[in-house]
Amino acid sequence: MDPIVIVGGGIVGTALAHRLRDRSRPVVLYERDALGSGTTGDSVAIFVRHQSSPDRPSQALRERAWEAYEPLVEDGTFSFERIGTLDVARTDAELADRREATAALSGFGVEASLLEPAALADHGLDPDAVAGAMWTPNDGYLDPAEIVQHYAREAAESGVAVETGTAVTDVRVEDGSVVGVETADGTQPAAAVVNAAGPWAPTVNDMAGVPLPFRHNLGPVVVLGKDEPFSFPFVQFGDGLYVRGEGRSQAFAGSFGASYDEADRLDPTDSRSVDHDFYLEVGDRIEEAIPRLEGAEVVSDWVGVRTLTPDGVPAVGETAVDDFYVAAGMNGLGVTVAPAIADFLAKRIAGEAVDPEVAAYLAPSRFA
Ligand SMILES: Cc1cc2nc3c(=O)[nH]c(=O)nc-3n(C[C@H](O)[C@H](O)[C@H](O)COP(=O)(O)OP(=O)(O)OC[C@H]3O[C@@H](n4cnc5c(N)ncnc54)[C@H](O)[C@@H]3O)c2cc1C
Repeated sequence: MDPIVIVGGGIVGTALAHRLRDRSRPVVLYERDALGSGTTGDSVAIFVRHQSSPDRPSQALRERAWEAYEPLVEDGTFSFERIGTLDVARTDAELADRREATAALSGFGVEASLLEPAALADHGLDPDAVAGAMWTPNDGYLDPAEIVQHYAREAAESGVAVETGTAVTDVRVEDGSVVGVETADGTQPAAAVVNAAGPWAPTVNDMAGVPLPFRHNLGPVVVLGKDEPFSFPFVQFGDGLYVRGEGRSQAFAGSFGASYDEADRLDPTDSRSVDHDFYLEVGDRIEEAIPRLEGAEVVSDWVGVRTLTPDGVPAVGETAVDDFYVAAGMNGLGVTVAPAIADFLAKRIAGEAVDPEVAAYLAPSRFA
């Protein structure tokens, strides 16, 4: 029996391998490098219930994902630090948006409230520099490396072939259907191929002749440390700068990066370093609004690459090539939604019923 081939061993590919592990059809996962070495390894890994512009299908995916994560958090398999998200408003107009988003999220059953500036001082912010914030206290950070290793290990124990250090070099298509992939080891026939290649997804789509409008943006992260212990939530500002507490004495300062319209297609393998201007921006923001981080020193930094879609929603499902599926364009949310994406796609591949609203939301064909 020809297997289902998964291209990519990030959090999405391994979650899918794990979800498919008990099916009768064999599964092969190819990872060009090491498991979790792509965007997943560069993530700041917040599980976010917070949404700036709440929409119901995204909420449904997050709920489904938490159903998968929660038991493993509770039994100690996955670590989870519940630090909460503060979506900070610095103007009255931004505050009106946060108020609207708080009402919409609360309507979905998410614990969310609007905090006054005085309450933000407890979270390390300067109350004179902010107009208020939307607070979702149940958000927190996961450890994506731990999740990837767990999913891959359990998948392998159930018979999934996890081939690391093996790049898929071509996708074979005959008469409009996918029939296999090529690797350095030769041809692997396939009943279905799933492109879960993260920022390399456009390259794998090119191999199959599937045009999808993915672009990339850069996610610089600066690690800040202090000698004394401190706590800090996940704080995001309207201009895309964010800071999240890490452990007992560090914080990650990052940027949500360019919008789709400003973004381009990049080579994810290029090496990159944090722009000097970003250091200045972080320093200015601390001085202006974050007294708790005053005196913090730079410990290290890195730059990750996100994969964007025009509408900010992942592309997940079958493509114009029969049995060639895509699960990519996760933007800044792949760690949050990976198990839900895996569950959705496993059902799709098996021809099982899925929520039609979520199917339309994720459908790659919306870009046709
Ligand atoms: C700085 C930063 C912060 C982030 N913060 C958050 C956050 O707080 N919360 C959140 O939910 N998300 C966050 N994200 C987004 C999240 O990290 C990604 O959406 C997620 O990791 C994408 O996972 P993936 O499996 O799709 O891709 P990847 O992790 O990139 O995995 C794809 C894999 O495919 C492999 N591959 C590529 N081509 C081939 C080939 N031809 N053959 C075989 N293998 C191949 C690659 O080596 C790679 O390992 C962040 C991203 C960045 C950059």
